[in-house]
Amino acid sequence: MTRTKPTSTLRKIDCHVHIVGDGSSGSDCWFQLPGLWKKFLGRMMIKGVGLPTSALKTGLDELYANNLLENIRESQLDAAVILAQDIPYTHNGEKIPDEAQFYVPNEYVANLAKQNPEFIPACSIHPGRPDAMDELEKCIEAKMPVLKLLPNCLNIDYMDKKYIPFWERIAEAGIILLTHTGGEMTVKVYDPSYGDPKKLEILLDCGVTTIAAHSAGRSAIFDDDWTSDLLKLFKRFPHLYGDNSALSSINRARTLKHILPVEIQPRIIHGSDYPVPVSGLGPMLMGQLSWSDYRKTGKIKNIIERDYQLKQGIGFSQDTFTKMDQLLQKLGK
Ligand SMILES: [Zn+2]
Repeated sequence: MTRTKPTSTLRKIDCHVHIVGDGSSGSDCWFQLPGLWKKFLGRMMIKGVGLPTSALKTGLDELYANNLLENIRESQLDAAVILAQDIPYTHNGEKIPDEAQFYVPNEYVANLAKQNPEFIPACSIHPGRPDAMDELEKCIEAKMPVLKLLPNCLNIDYMDKKYIPFWERIAEAGIILLTHTGGEMTVKVYDPSYGDPKKLEILLDCGVTTIAAHSAGRSAIFDDDWTSDLLKLFKRFPHLYGDNSALSSINRARTLKHILPVEIQPRIIHGSDYPVPVSGLGPMLMGQLSWSDYRKTGKIKNIIERDYQLKQGIGFSQDTFTKMDQLLQKLGK
């Protein structure tokens, strides 16, 4: 049963939700899970969102999108930013599709959002694509208010000056960049240094409102810790934010202590990184989540809702849940 949600002027939004698909509905989505570890991860995530693993064989497009919609509707959140995913390109602008693990076209995400107000569409465009500017115009036309990029996995060097016109157009159109920062373990990485938030300086100078996903935190044990650099950048760039996506997971919980202080929280935006599993074990072991909240959230099957309640238990303010809507309204979206 869908519960009636209280009406407030600002919506509670999850700013970081992945779409995956197999093209079975004509979406042109695809995914590949090379090797046993990736297969295991894929199956674990599909089960985690409440779908049978047989969904990986066929029918994934509709099963995944409908299940996500149901999870949002049954949660205390109002909407989620759903993410397209481009493929990597070489520095000369040639496609490298063989190395990509999944692809989600902009058009598919735009169409899902047209049908469902709970979905806010984020496009994904490698700025080195030969048709990058044309694709950007199409996405502006399709009213996609967010651009999602994983520079370390898509092979994007944000310090490359040839991308300046691209960033200028994004800033002018009032599009928010949601960019991966920090370490990464789920998707293949080309150059880990591209996850360094200091690389955002050129596009921040162009005026792009930017959300640093995972607040530049570490994923693997020996990753560089760039969160302190992000906090320094917050002082210089008022249009820079961080998200707390995936930080309830055991490998990323170390980042929480850096972004929980009251003076930092106004720059933090709620995100889950759905379908990445969240258990609360990491925050509980680090003393940031009570045993009773850990037990209580563990019983919640819907991981959109579980992550929301975990973030509340950890101590994120109500403002972190509505900040995305505040940004969207400020930019006229
Ligand atoms: Zn993500």
